[in-house]
Order: sequence, then structure tokens, then C-alpha cells
Amino acid sequence: MKTFSRKDAKAQSRTSERDRLFFAPLRLCGKTVLAIIIALSPSATLAQTPSSSYLFNDSHFHLTNYIQEGSDIHDFLKIMGNKAGRVALFGIPLQQQWSYRIDEDRAPTYYLNSDAPLYYYSFTDAWIATSYKSLSKEDQARFDPMITGFNPTDMYAADHIRRVLTAFPGVFSGIGEFSIHKEFVSAKIAGEVGSLQDKALDRLIDFATEVGLVVLIHNDVDVPFAKPGAEPAYAAQMMALLKRHPDTTFIWAHIGVGRIIRPVKEQAAIVETIIKDPQLRNVHFDISWDEVAKYIVATPEATKNAAALVNRYPERFLFGTDEVAPATQEKYLTVYNQYEPFWKLLTPAASEKVRKQNYERIFNEARRKVRAWEASRLKSNSGG
Ligand SMILES: [Zn+2]
Repeated sequence: MKTFSRKDAKAQSRTSERDRLFFAPLRLCGKTVLAIIIALSPSATLAQTPSSSYLFNDSHFHLTNYIQEGSDIHDFLKIMGNKAGRVALFGIPLQQQWSYRIDEDRAPTYYLNSDAPLYYYSFTDAWIATSYKSLSKEDQARFDPMITGFNPTDMYAADHIRRVLTAFPGVFSGIGEFSIHKEFVSAKIAGEVGSLQDKALDRLIDFATEVGLVVLIHNDVDVPFAKPGAEPAYAAQMMALLKRHPDTTFIWAHIGVGRIIRPVKEQAAIVETIIKDPQLRNVHFDISWDEVAKYIVATPEATKNAAALVNRYPERFLFGTDEVAPATQEKYLTVYNQYEPFWKLLTPAASEKVRKQNYERIFNEARRKVRAWEASRLKSNSGG
């Protein structure tokens, strides 16, 4: 059928490419090559390589895209190779609808491709859990899966998270990346627009905190095309939200910056205010996304200022790629490489923290807490 031909062709070429990569070497010279492949497989590499040889842990990675397609997790392990040690793994909670009335045969693959709405796609959590469970124990240790498939305007969102933990115990370390205010996205989501002042958001964060899940939240600090000189639109609401949840381990994605939501001077001040507030000591920032890297390396002055802030408070920042289902390792490393001038200005200790140690500290703690919550819950269930 004409409508599906493009996708079919794409899927076909992906499969044959995969076959070529996997099986071609085997055809060459049998057992010896197979042994080499096993020796070079990501898990074997992980076991043999001290963590210091990795470039980074990735606190922000999407295995699937806005139409819920993406990389096979086994292929992605090869892409991580010996560059990424551990990865916080999630899909995207929103599905771009393909509306034939609007887009006819132009199947949209990104939210900017279509006027048709986005909707919450809860199955993403089952997809991520199932992908993770298809890995060996050793390979699983390299991932921290996250729950994203909830509608944060729904008081029942917390119940969805609980249900996912119950269905897939031993898997998840956090929730997110989920978005409240996000340029070009929030307004496209079917149903109510998210709000930082929504009781439903407090309820789901309270539940995540009780379990020990890391909360990775995307919220632009401002609206697009803000009036010059005006207070960033969502700064006060965001601060209030963080303050209402002092015991939650937050990661504020992209330091609150967007594609056109600029890192206004005020944002550096907001970040520093948060960092200095002892009540907000559990709030961290990820520097993921090529759009964020673009601003940080835009001028030597911008890079210097960002590096100075991170050198002052190295515990509070995490590297992430925000890549979405990258096809090659080169693509996967784009953001890391883009930050080259920034890495050079960090002290060795700060660089280690941002690239690796903060991730390990935060996600090891989350794993410990969530597993303990699951264990006590399962016990109390079986005990009646
Ligand atoms: Zn993201």
C-alpha cells in the first residue's frame, strides 16, 4: 500500500544494514572472528576496562523518538562501546499523531513536522522495560531506565508510576524526562496544558520521592520570544515547585534552556541561587542537548563563564547527550565533542564529576532506594 511504502523501505534498509553488520564478519572466518566479536562486545569491554577509561556516563538519552521508533538496545550498546559507561534510558512519552486528514501521506516523524497533536503514549514504559530485560545482567548494569509514560496533569499519574514499578520490578531508577513547559511542544499535547502549579505534579513527585526515584524534569525557564527585560516567565513557579519538594532528587534538564529559550543572564543567576540554597541541595542540572552546547561554546566568554560556574559547584552538573536513537557512534558523540572547548576549561576533578561521578552517585543511590522500596512492597504484598 502506497501509504506505508516509505516506512517499509526504511525498516527494510535498517534490518539489512543490521544483518550486514552482525553477520558479515561471521561469514569471513568463523570461530576466530566470533571469539574476537565476543571479546570486543560492550559487556566484555566493560568488564575489562576500568571506568576511568570511559569518556562519560549519559544522564539523558532517548532510545526512541516522537513516533516511538528507535534503536534496538543491543545495537545501541555497540554504539556506546567503550565511550559511554552508563546511560539513563528512556523513550519519549509523547507520540506524534499521523493524521491523514492533515498530513495525508506525509507521515510526520517529529513534532515540528505536523500540526496534528501529540498524545501521551504510556506503552513507552513497557517498551523500555522489555528492551532492558532482553539484556544480560552485565549489560543491564550499564542502564538506568526511567518511567516517562504518564500525563503530568492527571492526578492518576502517580498511580501509573506505581503500576509500572509493580509490573517491572528491578528495572527503573527514575522518572523523566517529562516536560511541563517546553517550547513548541506543550501547546501541541492533546488535553490540558501542563502546569508547575498542578496538584497532579506535586502528587507524582511526592510518590517518586517516597520510592527514591530520580526526577528528570524539562521545564523551560521562559516563554519563546519573551519581552526583553521581563522576568523569565516560569522562574518563580519552578523555584516554588523545587522548594515544595526538598527531599526529591531533581535533575533540571538542559539547565532550563531551550532551542530559542536563551540562557538569559538571569538564568545563570537562578542556577546559582538554587545551588546556594541549602533547602535545594538535591537539585542538579544536566547540560545535555546540542542546543545547550551551542550556547555554552558560542563565544570564548560564554564558555569561560559556564566553566567557572561548574568549577565552583561541580557536584551539581551532569553531562548528558539528549540524543534520540542515534544511528552511529559518531552521531552519538556529537554533543560530547561539541563541548570540547568547555571540557578544556574544567579542572580535572570537576570534569570527572560532571562526566561520570555525579551520575554514579545519584543513580547508585536511586537504584538502592528503589530496589529497597520494591522489596518491602513485594514482601508486604505476599505477607497479605
Ligand atoms: Zn531529552
